[in-house]
Amino acid sequence: MTEKVFYQDSYQKTHRSTVSAVEDGGVMLASTIFYPMGGGQPGDTGSLKIGGTDYRVIDTRYAPDRIGIVHYLDADDLSGVSPGDAVELELDWERRHRLMRMHTSMHLMCSLISAQATGGSIGESESRLDFDLQGQTVDKHQLTTAINELIGRGLPVSVGSISDDELERNPGLVRTMSVQPPRGQGEVRTISIEDADYQPCGGTHVKNIGEIGEVVITKIKSKGKQNKRITMVLVNP
Ligand SMILES: [Zn+2]
Repeated sequence: MTEKVFYQDSYQKTHRSTVSAVEDGGVMLASTIFYPMGGGQPGDTGSLKIGGTDYRVIDTRYAPDRIGIVHYLDADDLSGVSPGDAVELELDWERRHRLMRMHTSMHLMCSLISAQATGGSIGESESRLDFDLQGQTVDKHQLTTAINELIGRGLPVSVGSISDDELERNPGLVRTMSVQPPRGQGEVRTISIEDADYQPCGGTHVKNIGEIGEVVITKIKSKGKQNKRITMVLVNP
């Protein structure tokens, strides 16, 4: 099991931990600040220092049991790494913070469109959500203005939780059909952006939406019969 330090503090850039297992090109740690790919958000990159050697982390993923977190290293030979070894972790913080800004802005997009999101992807250079608009029209200039107005309000983002039962009774809280929150642990993590958005989410977010800065909706494209794909970029990457 890997302790998820990125949930206790999404802004922690360095951390000390120990190796709990070594597997195919990857190292599982007792605790980590690296976010594992999930919910449309890519896995973190950065570096691990183990026994005086710096290893580059090229991806972070959940182990198949979803309990352990594996850091994939750009190294052919991990014979020098053993369970119990001390590790110093350092995130590619600029990349992670950009992904947090992108991820949080997708919540704002969701809050401004009253339709079910059917898919999505968060990227370093652009992010997108697909919506089942059911014939509604969305104008990219109007949406750009509306999101930037929200960002300009500088609303705080807070983390909470909801019980599986409560979520079962309020299925409308789940805004994306493709990214169902992991149930079965008794409760699900939630994100709320003051009065703008409230939904279950397992990603990492900025503390205040003012950190996102200006955004632009670059494309609204048909994707299938009723779906529209809405793509967004950050003005200051
Ligand atoms: Zn989120």
